[in-house]
Amino acid sequence: MPRFTFKLEYDGSRFDGWPDVQAALEAALGQNGSPASALAAAEPTEAGVHASSQIVHLDLASAHNPLTLKADLSEVLRGTALAIVGASTVPDDFDATRAVERHYTYRLFSRRATLTFNKGTMWRIDHPLDIRAMREAAHYLIGKHDFSSFCNGPAATQLSELRIESAAHSSGTEVRLHFRAPSFAPEQARRIVGLLERIGAGVHPPEIMREVLEARSLAPDAPIAPPRGLYLDDIRYSESILQSAHLPLEPIPHLASGIGAAMLEQMPLPLLVITRKGRVAYANQFAYDLLPAMTLRQHFSETLDAPKFTKAVQAAIDSGQTGKVRFSLKDGPERFFVAHIGLLPAGSEFGKSIRVIAAIEERTTMLKSEQMRSDFIANVSHELRTPLATILGYIETLQGHAKDDAEARERFLAVMAKQAGRMQNLVNDLMSLNRIEIEEHNRPVEPCALPPLASEAVAAVQPLSERLGTSVQASLPTEMPRIRGDHDQLLQVLVNLLENAVKYSDQSQPVRLFLAPADANHPGQIGLSVQDTGPGLAPEHLSRLTERFYRVSVAKSRDQGGTGLGLAIVKHILNRHEGALDIRSALGKGSTFTVWLPAYNEV
Ligand code: ADP
Repeated sequence: MPRFTFKLEYDGSRFDGWPDVQAALEAALGQNGSPASALAAAEPTEAGVHASSQIVHLDLASAHNPLTLKADLSEVLRGTALAIVGASTVPDDFDATRAVERHYTYRLFSRRATLTFNKGTMWRIDHPLDIRAMREAAHYLIGKHDFSSFCNGPAATQLSELRIESAAHSSGTEVRLHFRAPSFAPEQARRIVGLLERIGAGVHPPEIMREVLEARSLAPDAPIAPPRGLYLDDIRYSESILQSAHLPLEPIPHLASGIGAAMLEQMPLPLLVITRKGRVAYANQFAYDLLPAMTLRQHFSETLDAPKFTKAVQAAIDSGQTGKVRFSLKDGPERFFVAHIGLLPAGSEFGKSIRVIAAIEERTTMLKSEQMRSDFIANVSHELRTPLATILGYIETLQGHAKDDAEARERFLAVMAKQAGRMQNLVNDLMSLNRIEIEEHNRPVEPCALPPLASEAVAAVQPLSERLGTSVQASLPTEMPRIRGDHDQLLQVLVNLLENAVKYSDQSQPVRLFLAPADANHPGQIGLSVQDTGPGLAPEHLSRLTERFYRVSVAKSRDQGGTGLGLAIVKHILNRHEGALDIRSALGKGSTFTVWLPAYNEV
């Protein structure tokens, strides 16, 4: 009894559709003029060589032409298996494993750019490949194309199998392409490999893949059966891709060995060298730090999501145009860059053809500080202009029609004094901020005892607390470790916090100053808390309170003589002390501002 053996391949998932296959086989055999009973002898072997394939033996009642039977099976099984490969009538002692091994196997090393026929080297790829897309494309190519144009043999030669396996290794992905054809020209194999690798890398997904994928998305469970009638166009399209393809097998050049390589590595700027075909040929460590997902040989346009950068590099490749380009990246908080695009000479150690070098400079910090500076000046002018305009207005009135009005003069002078006081507070706070900033990197080293500091701060806010009718209660243990800090600056911190608590609190309850319980988030630090029972703060304000001029209510702050700089001063002083400010607040319940300071090492 003739035995027909074939292999079914699936799209990577383990085969579990035997009943479907059986039904399909019945239909195929029916088409092939064989009694359905022949199927009783159909027998799936163990899961084949790969989880996604299945060897099937079919004992046939009568002789069949294996090729027509295979064609019929392919047609019927389209809904079940992705491909039927290696179908043949074989002797009874058929050994599936050996049969698979007999297939010609191409294994390519990209690094060494060797392509050996029937020999067995591996192709290692440094970037992630969409193996699924490659597999789909390969199956589509097998299903649709007459590969005689790629083969050396007689016109009737067909590529009957092209299988892709991939395995991830620490050094990259290993991809093996198995071709089965009586004869094969390495150059042509290289072209197919090039096409598939490009599909896998998603660099230029060809039309055919788009069609495959579209067909899939219309019917997600559908087999990969691309629309018919595209055959010739596809071939042409594939050919044109191959012609323009930057075949990936060019070796990565060893750039600037010795001194040159060391210098490129040491340049404190992200540097990319890009080939004429747009591949990243070299990246220094700073470039990897900036673009951690980048891999060598990736197309440069995929490394940075910045159309301006892409355009500038392309212009350098196409027409040798060099220069500077500004761009920003918006993946997260916006970051600003300037890329300097230049050309490396052809024929040097950088390679035979011209290469583009891009040095990428981050400007985010600089632009942000420029922005902050101009915002700051605008804020200061605005804060000074209002009281100044008020004072000038009253002066004019007093010089004019209120000249002899003693009662108005008293009233106006009081207002002018308040406005002048506001300006004075602002100037004082600005001078403090300036002084603190100058010293910010100079860490204080002297010890400072907290209880006397707290008493001094309470005394300093007493006039204000009496005026506003809010009492301040300080309760610190008399014996407590000293902290490392600048007495005057820490006094300013406590005064600012106590003044705020007094200004914004509910008069019926005292403001409290106490030692904060130890906190694992602030090891080796001592905390002082200032607590009020005021209106509290909504969570969205908390992180912004220490910004200069940030106020929840500008009117209320101004009315209390506030400048909007108090907490900014606190923050800078604490930065200098390597301390921290913790703000806890609940609307309607009040706020607790805790200052953490490093304990003084007494030994
Ligand atoms: P200001 O001079 O306006 O008080 P600060 O920098 O000291 O400036 O404070 C910024 C803002 O934080 C204040 O305008 C106020 O809206 C809010 N704030 C500060 N402390 C408290 C507090 N204890 N309770 C409620 N709001 C507060």
